[in-house]
Amino acid sequence: MQYNVIVTEPINQMGIKYLKEKEVNVIELPPGSTGEVLSKQVTKADGLITRGSIKITEELMKASPRLKVIGVHGIGCDHVDLAAAKRLGKIVCNTPDALTVTVSEMAFALTLALLRNIVSADKAVRKGEWNRKYSDLIGSELAGKKVGIIGLGRIGEATARRVKAFDSDVLYWSRTRKPEKELKYGFRWMELDDLLKDSDIISLHVPSTEETRHLIGLEQFEKMKQGVYIVNTARGKVIDEEALIKALKNGKVKAAALDVFENEPLSTDSPLCKMDNVILTPHIGASNLEGMQRMAIQVAVGVLKAIQGEEPDNRVV
Ligand code: NAP
Repeated sequence: MQYNVIVTEPINQMGIKYLKEKEVNVIELPPGSTGEVLSKQVTKADGLITRGSIKITEELMKASPRLKVIGVHGIGCDHVDLAAAKRLGKIVCNTPDALTVTVSEMAFALTLALLRNIVSADKAVRKGEWNRKYSDLIGSELAGKKVGIIGLGRIGEATARRVKAFDSDVLYWSRTRKPEKELKYGFRWMELDDLLKDSDIISLHVPSTEETRHLIGLEQFEKMKQGVYIVNTARGKVIDEEALIKALKNGKVKAAALDVFENEPLSTDSPLCKMDNVILTPHIGASNLEGMQRMAIQVAVGVLKAIQGEEPDNRVV
């Protein structure tokens, strides 16, 4: 029997090729397809591969008795009605490991870019301001600095290992203390308040939840060292953006690099867009070729396993 897998949004072709080689009939919906387009096709699907822009509702799941599995290309499953999937016996799997290197390299790149004023230096050259190399473009070294990692999960650990390799002192705070990582890599666990007081650079790696909303706000900025650097590649809501803007204006935070924002896309009216001491990127932490390839292959493998009655590696439901 030939299986049908609907791919609701474009993914790297390596995932499509993998499925086709296993003789799966892959139906790629045109870019920008809506839930309505999917609902017309879903009745013949054994599996779905989704990226988040189409909501996978109970109604869609019920429309396809054949549907066995919903494969999420990425980590976040907020667009899938997980409770309904559980009730209806549909498997949901995702690709949590695919982006660990991808996002940690982004956090690391932003850290070095902040310390060496790379973005301002580029702008200076374009404006013919060569002599700034003796004034405000004088940067700082990562070696010897205390780097505070908030959230020592997959990406937090991978970032910590990268900065540690550049001779920094890694401090961390996370929901769970990780003694084995402390022994293996020399990371030092601290209470959050102590980490805030001691760190020269703070890099955020916790998910966005009720508990982590505005984890870093006015009170926390007050506890930080004067002239601290902030890097956020996690989620915008983890930082109170207004409080960050104040801290950037009054010099408490020397500079910040932000890939994520409280509201995305960031409005060009945001004060952040007018500040020279920030680096802003449009949520591209996950955007590299290798990450896209890994996500596409991992989700394809998971979906096919589930269709064939095997347990997929990263089962969510
Ligand atoms: P992960 O492995 O689940 O790690 C999350 C870490 O945060 C874990 O160590 C977890 O603690 C800790 N944590 C969770 N809730 C906490 C809380 N309330 N207080 C303190 N610590 C808490 O996730 P990951 O793969 O490293 O991803 C981290 C985040 O990166 C994601 O959630 C996502 O927001 C972000 N991300 C961004 C991009 C981008 O494009 N910029 C791409 C992918 C991911 P435990 O060890 O106790 O579980």
